[in-house]
Amino acid sequence: MLRKISLCLAIALFVAALPSPAFAQAAAVAEKPAVQAAKPALPTIVVLATGGTIAGAAATDTQAGYTSGQVGVDQLLAAVPQAKKLANMRGEQISNIGSQDMNDEVWLKLARRVNELVAMPDVAGVVITHGTDTIEETAYFLNLVIKSKKPVVLTASMRPSTALSADGPLNFFNAVAVAANKDAAGRGVLVVINDWIHGASSLTKTSTTAVQTFMSPLRGLIGTVAYGDAEFFRGPVGRNTVTSEFSLDGVTALPRVDIIMAHENMDGALIDAAVAAGAKGIVIAGVGNGNLTAPAVKALAAQAKKGIACVRSTRVATGVVGRNVELDDDALNLVASLGLNPQKSRVLLRLALTKTSDPKQIQRMFDEY
Ligand code: ASP
Repeated sequence: MLRKISLCLAIALFVAALPSPAFAQAAAVAEKPAVQAAKPALPTIVVLATGGTIAGAAATDTQAGYTSGQVGVDQLLAAVPQAKKLANMRGEQISNIGSQDMNDEVWLKLARRVNELVAMPDVAGVVITHGTDTIEETAYFLNLVIKSKKPVVLTASMRPSTALSADGPLNFFNAVAVAANKDAAGRGVLVVINDWIHGASSLTKTSTTAVQTFMSPLRGLIGTVAYGDAEFFRGPVGRNTVTSEFSLDGVTALPRVDIIMAHENMDGALIDAAVAAGAKGIVIAGVGNGNLTAPAVKALAAQAKKGIACVRSTRVATGVVGRNVELDDDALNLVASLGLNPQKSRVLLRLALTKTSDPKQIQRMFDEY
């Protein structure tokens, strides 16, 4: 008897010593599948989980080190029961990776699944949970290939689910609220994080660790959301979703495009190496207004002449890269990225290359998207 009591005590002490993560806590209750009993008055939102810090876990609630993609979609749903008042939800696990490992296989699977779901009459919108590292690229990719006006909303968190003041649960709640909001329709793919609603073409990660990391420096916010209460200011900038000319129909692989950062004393070696490695396009994260050294310009123009699509973007945090400013893009067959940063220029260029490698056509696409 005494042995039994001390065993129970030992187990109780061990459990009490574990961190009390928002998502992991709910895991115990989350044995059941993520499908809830249908409430006809509420819209149906499908949650697609891909991993990231929002699904991350650490051994204690105050440590910086953690592992992304530890918590499954059922646990994510169970951890925010408040969201059940906003929508009928069901979840699907697309992947469970840190978004630094995001890749074309997951992108194609995710985009195809979103297109299937938004074509279903009973689905009002889709929420995608993702890591913050590459969320801007995934959001922009989906913005160009999803064929629906229904809300598709990505969300993420900077702190893992086990952290003190984890930001994931409220971000998730707000994302569901925006996806369930009829006014979110027709605004392109959205990213909801830290009370702000960003357009896919505008947001960028600006801090490695701060919770307030995402900004839409050039094109501004689409709206704000406070505890599920959304206010929309405007629509997205650039062609998107139903007005996009890009489609994944018949696409099994995306062309390789490399990003090369310009710097003092740059030569053309990396530009030539990228093409030798199979790149069909190059994006330069240029200095200033998309500039690079004379030897690098020479190498870039030589590749452009051979039919490699070459885009000048900038390593500067914000601002437009203009055409024919300090370089003669017309003569050199180069494309100016205008308002797109290097990582988003790469996304657009990969899709552009599924249609054309003509720099004039590609410039037209950068003008319109
Ligand atoms: N490395 C993580 C990821 O992108 C960071 C995060 O989600 O905040 O998956």
